[in-house]
Amino acid sequence: MGNCSFRKKVFATRKLPEDAVNILKTRFNVEFWPHESPVPKNILIEKVREVNGLICMLTERVDCEVIEAASDQFWGISQVAVGYDNIDVEAATRRGIYVTNTPEVLTETTADFAFTLLMATARRIAEADRYVRSGRWNIPWGLTMFLGQDVWGKTIGIIGMGRIGTAVARRAKGMNMRILYYDVYRNDAAERELGAQYVDLETLLKESDFVSIHVPLTPATRHLISEGNLRLMKRTACLINTSRGPVVDEKALYKALKEGWIWAAGLDVWEEEPTDPDNPLLSLENVTAAPHIASASYETRTKMAIMAAENMTAILEGKIPPNLVNREVLKVRPPIEK
Ligand code: NAD
Repeated sequence: MGNCSFRKKVFATRKLPEDAVNILKTRFNVEFWPHESPVPKNILIEKVREVNGLICMLTERVDCEVIEAASDQFWGISQVAVGYDNIDVEAATRRGIYVTNTPEVLTETTADFAFTLLMATARRIAEADRYVRSGRWNIPWGLTMFLGQDVWGKTIGIIGMGRIGTAVARRAKGMNMRILYYDVYRNDAAERELGAQYVDLETLLKESDFVSIHVPLTPATRHLISEGNLRLMKRTACLINTSRGPVVDEKALYKALKEGWIWAAGLDVWEEEPTDPDNPLLSLENVTAAPHIASASYETRTKMAIMAAENMTAILEGKIPPNLVNREVLKVRPPIEK
């Protein structure tokens, strides 16, 4: 297919690392959105009418309206993330559009970050940093200064024992922690190899010193951490969220932290992103905040982009892509003919 006029077209909603660009450019006519900000919906709609495939980020809302606008020559949406709650997968399946994600390659990086956030929250690292910089450090050492929570040997409760939850559990085992987990499925390997104990959500919340969330955002997990559930937790507990913001009811979390039902929270994800600087949670010293960066390492972001490029290549070259999210689509529209 040397003739450029027959090349399929791909629109990517960000500039991608060079290795991913090379995979795409040798095969397709690719256009990259040149900005760091998300692509506005009207442009997204325009693009899906023109191109054969879309490579997007979790910041693009690929909803029913966008999907309905796609032409019949539009074949796939390749998301550069493992979570894909921003895409209306059902609408895509109905239209025979393949949807892919980037699992596995970000698991260890995200688990590293979740555990970092857990430790930072337990030991008040962000607060201590602000304290030193602000010039308030005026005694050489204080016996009761910046007291935190021990992590070694404590109990961690993992909500969602999938890939990342299990990787967090491995780190917790290294910290001699008792591991409880709640999921819709039992994870035999985690029970066998890590000694993780399956419990119901109520038991997990009541018994854990650290609660770390690793479920996808779905209708069932939206506001899973509600006021009622926060009230079950220990007064000394830390809540760590590196999944998706709306899994936690932020208003309820604010009350919980302000009124001391729980001790602290470490949040990488927010109900709205970027979160408003006036978000009441940011006024609390016992919140450790991060701007949705759990998978952000040089190596991992490159691997994610390469994987997304490979998924798109497979779709447009008539293969079943390795990370197909909606397998049912194969019944609606078999792979493109080469
Ligand atoms: P996974 O599919 O391997 O694991 C998710 C687990 O949650 C599964 O075991 C599943 O059974 C369980 N689950 C689903 N619905 C549930 C429910 N209603 N109640 C209890 N358990 C439920 O996914 P993963 O690769 O471990 O990723 C998990 C999530 O982490 C992603 O969906 C994504 O939203 C989030 N994530 C965030 C970042 C970040 O930058 N902060 C990075 C990577 C992933």
